[in-house]
This record gives sequence, structure tokens and C-alpha cells, in this order.
Amino acid sequence: MAEGVKYKDLILQADNIFKAFEQEFERFARFRTGVGLEDVTLKDAESLQANLNDLRTRHTGKKSAFASVKKLIGRVGQEDRAAFGQHVQSLESEIERALGETDEVLKALVSAGRLERERIDVTLPGRRPRRGHLHPITLLRQRIEDVFVSLGYAIEDDREIETDYYNFDALNIPDGHPARDAQDTFYTTDGFALRSQTSTVQIHAMERRTAPLRMIAPGRVFRRDTPDATHNPMFFQVEGLCVDRGITMAHLKGTLSEFVHRLFGPDVRTRFRPSYFPFTEPSAEVDYSCFKCGGNGCRICKGSGWIELGGSGMVHRNVLTAVGIDPDVFTGFAFGFGIDRMSALMYKLDDIRLLFENDVRFLEQFN
Ligand SMILES: [Zn+2]
Repeated sequence: MAEGVKYKDLILQADNIFKAFEQEFERFARFRTGVGLEDVTLKDAESLQANLNDLRTRHTGKKSAFASVKKLIGRVGQEDRAAFGQHVQSLESEIERALGETDEVLKALVSAGRLERERIDVTLPGRRPRRGHLHPITLLRQRIEDVFVSLGYAIEDDREIETDYYNFDALNIPDGHPARDAQDTFYTTDGFALRSQTSTVQIHAMERRTAPLRMIAPGRVFRRDTPDATHNPMFFQVEGLCVDRGITMAHLKGTLSEFVHRLFGPDVRTRFRPSYFPFTEPSAEVDYSCFKCGGNGCRICKGSGWIELGGSGMVHRNVLTAVGIDPDVFTGFAFGFGIDRMSALMYKLDDIRLLFENDVRFLEQFN
């Protein structure tokens, strides 16, 4: 009889242990069926899987309450042992089934979630589009434009294919003038030419806007040159023009001196050497003291301390007359220089052609 009581107690003990499991398992119950789980995230599924493993260890492991009940089977009286054993076993297999089925569902959720994450992994850094940058010639052109705009100059742009008249005649270079040879360019079969200087833009601007005016014309020009380290058949120029009442050579010198100060610094000096251009009178070559050595002589200035900026002068009466501006009322100065040569100097390029080869490995350095 005493053993019967013990048996009943043991049954009760086993049932209580099972109830404790059931209570804890409650939160996993919905995962056992595997339906209606669309809202479960991968992170949730992974943490539930870990929780389930923990539950398994505590309720079926060697040190679990259930294991200690199983150990008592041998001590139950002969007549009840089989029944008790069966009861414990049925509880145990119910626990195993619940854990197993739930584990299957969670595994499927996790693997589906990981597949989805690999398809679009929002935690991966995005593929950043490589941002390019402007060409070194464009960068310098913009700096030059900024200086002259701040001095009150307009920026003019115009056609690159010109008639003979605009490229030569209007600039006081009539047919047969020797200056045409030095500026030989490319001609089309129907009488047009690729402009050999941006002075053409000045002519158009003076015709359109008349005096007074202040403008610069940056742009591409063409010459029949054989490419070498310092020449290219296509290059970039910027020309400036100022026409008003009472404009003198002093205004020209002041303007170009201010320009090199703004571009290279306040210590840079200018010098003017007498020269000849058909469209200016008097004419002068302009040099500025080397921005690198300050005039002591270095590799950039080839030891002379001076760097050639370009040509300049007072606009020739014939040029003003050609565009209908009265040279007795208005005077003006003009200047022009090459942007590519200047950028080749500033970036210490041995070969000006590097600027036009569009080799990205070269251009990337100017970011
Ligand atoms: Zn120098």
C-alpha cells in the first residue's frame, strides 16, 4: 500500500514536471504549427531558436527534473513499474515531439530569412558611384573666369568655325599678310576655318554690344601645328578686351598685374616687352615672375625667373573701325594667353599632350 502511495506521488511529480514544461513551451506553441508566421523576422527566429535549445537542455538534459524522475522508475514497485515507465515515456515523447516540430519550423524560418537577407543585404555598404571631377584645364579656366568676373568682365562664348573675315580681316590681318602664316589653321572646302584665336569672339561681341565693354573669351582654338611636348593643334586660350573712353596702357598693366596677383599671390610681378601683333598698337609680350622660385630661377621658369603669360596691347584703330566703334572716342586694350600652357606649368607637366589624351590615371590626380 505504501508503494501505491509512492507510485501516485511519482505520477503527480512527473505530471507537474510536464506541466512546468508546457507552461514554458506556451510561447513557442504557435511556431509548432508553422502557420501565420509571416510577421516573424530573421532576428526573432534566430533568438527563438536559441531559446528553444535552452528550453530543451533544461527539460530533457541529464540534470533536468525529468531525468531525475526517470531514474526513479527502477525503484517503483514491481506491479506499477511498467505503467509508471509508460507514463513517463509518453510524457517524454510528447516533450520531444513538441521541441522537434517547433525546431523544424524555426530552422525553416531562419534559412528562408538568411536567403532573403543575402538577396538584398541592407546592412552591406552600398556601391557608391565614383564621382568624377572637372578636367584640370576646366578648373584653371574657372579660376581665371572668377578673377575677371570680379573685375567686372563679362564672359563671352562663340562659334569655333569662322569665316576668313572674322578670323583674319576684322583683326587687321588682310589676305596676304604674313601673320596669316603663323596662324595657319584648318579650312573647310566651303570657305570656313577653325578659329585660330578667340579674338573672333571679341569682334562678334563688339559688333553686338558696341562700346563701352569689358569681356573675356575663354575657348578652344586651332592651329596647324605638329603635336610635340609644348604644341598641340588644338588648345585653350583666354582673351580679354576692355574698350571705353580714355583707356590707356596703364589700365592694361594694372589689370594684368591684378590678375597674376589673384592667381599666384601678391608677390608676383609683371613685365612688358615690346612686341608686334597686327590687331594691337602698341603691342607687348607679358611675363610674370615665377610663382615657384619668386624670380631666382628654377626648372619651371627654365632658370630665367620669368614666365611668359601671353600677348597684349592697345586695340588697333583699324580693328575698332571694322566693328563700327569710333577710335577717336574710344580706346581699348586686349590680351590673350594659353590656359593649357599655364596649367602645364602649374602642375609641372613635361608634356602638354597629357592634358588631351584623356587618360583617367593621369586626370585622377587633379581631384
Ligand atoms: Zn622659377
